[in-house]
Amino acid sequence: MSDTILSVRNVSKRFGGIRAVEDVSFEVRKGEILGLIGPNGSGKSTLFNCILGQLKPSGGHVTINGVATDGVRPADLSLMGVGRTFQQLSVFPKMTVLDNVILAGQEHHGTMLSRLFSRPDMGLTEEAERLIAFFRLTPYRDTPAGSLSYGQQKLVDAAMAFMAGPEIVLLDEPAGGVNLTMLAHLKERLVAYNREHGTTFVVIEHNMEFVMSLCTRIIVLAQGAVIAEGTPDEIRANPEVIEAYLGG
Ligand code: ADP
Ligand code: MG
Repeated sequence: MSDTILSVRNVSKRFGGIRAVEDVSFEVRKGEILGLIGPNGSGKSTLFNCILGQLKPSGGHVTINGVATDGVRPADLSLMGVGRTFQQLSVFPKMTVLDNVILAGQEHHGTMLSRLFSRPDMGLTEEAERLIAFFRLTPYRDTPAGSLSYGQQKLVDAAMAFMAGPEIVLLDEPAGGVNLTMLAHLKERLVAYNREHGTTFVVIEHNMEFVMSLCTRIIVLAQGAVIAEGTPDEIRANPEVIEAYLGG
């Protein structure tokens, strides 16, 4: 039995002449919180989209629990036990927080045969309310998501990624543009979720304090390639990493 949940082998992605991702390989173990960092334009979001089957890699191979993600439809990801958040907010601003979170679960359940045999809302309301409470958004349950603060909307986004009970969640800059209080709250909730459910996380984030305190291991990309991998302490002390961020 392998304890690897995600395997990325020699993945490359070109856009015309741009080498966005260049021969990237790594594995993620079950229950791990892996950080993916790197300067703007270093290929992090492109790599996520290759991992999730939303972009076809120019080369290489990705498996989640041994299953290739190549060409998988977004709706099938949740069936594979995969959740994700996008760099851009993906809430529907006019819908309530509760409806946004329920909707995130509907695609998943809608494709299952069990739908025929379950209650009309398939338990989605209960599950959505549980997640809303978990992220401490209960006071905003019936508020249109668009009238929440940006940080609160990022929390709604995070809650949505957990609706299908994923084994692994990929988060693209969950703390981007979020104030310090919300940042601490988000981090604490992610750690709690990981501890309670053993869910694996791969997290892209620019906020170093957030990444260093959340993640157990960090991979650094620069110009599409992996330049370093290690514990937060190892990454902090790595001269190549410092150069990638400070050098021109
Ligand atoms: P990051 O998320 O690390 O900031 P991205 O993965 O968004 O980086 O981008 C990596 C590189 O690929 C950048 O040079 C970007 O301009 C380019 N890129 C990303 N998506 C596309 C696309 N759809 N078409 C062309 N170039 C792209
Ligand atoms: Mg990005």
